[in-house]
Amino acid sequence: MRYAIVSDVHGNLEALQSAFELILATDSVLCLGDIVGYGPNPNECVELIRARATATVLGNHDVAAVDNFGLSYFNPTAREAMEWTQTVLTADNVAWLNGLGYEFRVPEFLLVHGAPVTYFEYILDKPAAARAFAATDAPLIFVGHTHIAEAYTLRADGAIDHKHFQQGGTFTLEEGSRYLVNVGSVGQPRDLNPRASFAFYEPELARISINRFDYPIARVQEKIACAHLPDALARRLVVGR
Ligand code: ZN
Repeated sequence: MRYAIVSDVHGNLEALQSAFELILATDSVLCLGDIVGYGPNPNECVELIRARATATVLGNHDVAAVDNFGLSYFNPTAREAMEWTQTVLTADNVAWLNGLGYEFRVPEFLLVHGAPVTYFEYILDKPAAARAFAATDAPLIFVGHTHIAEAYTLRADGAIDHKHFQQGGTFTLEEGSRYLVNVGSVGQPRDLNPRASFAFYEPELARISINRFDYPIARVQEKIACAHLPDALARRLVVGR
């Protein structure tokens, strides 16, 4: 049994298709939200996730697409892209997004877009990670939202360790520790590595790997231009920020 955990696809179909080339048919796909927003293929990305994911939670861009929630806090570029996204999303895909919940919990792990309970909080440092661990009893928490692949470990002695996965990597879950894993972003990485990111989780081996992989960025940039989306959204993909 292996889980493939994807997040922050943001309408980037080429990156999502490249991820699915690495994900096997036997893997169970989990999605941490922000399927839409920024990118030129929101419908195609929603449909791929609908077809493939066994659990999906809402991201802030998904909620904004459905009912404008939080749109006033978006920066001008994000807002312009969201207004475009709202014009192209099909009613059927909007209805599907509207039916998603904010969290998915099984005994072994919790899925949320940004943080437990405060769903759209950005976990960017150890104090925020400590609050997240305190807000849930889940031994393993998967998040996205910041588009930065990294992991926090709450050790049995109460200390928190932190590690970036800018170039990917694998680690083993140790008995007595709890983990908060940011799987990074499929469609718009922001940790200064333009390669897309997602995680594999193998419960039997207590092993998590963060995978960084190339996808045809130039093709997405062409589509962003064709859709008359802000040019900044094309430029940021090559620098990963
Ligand atoms: Zn996002």
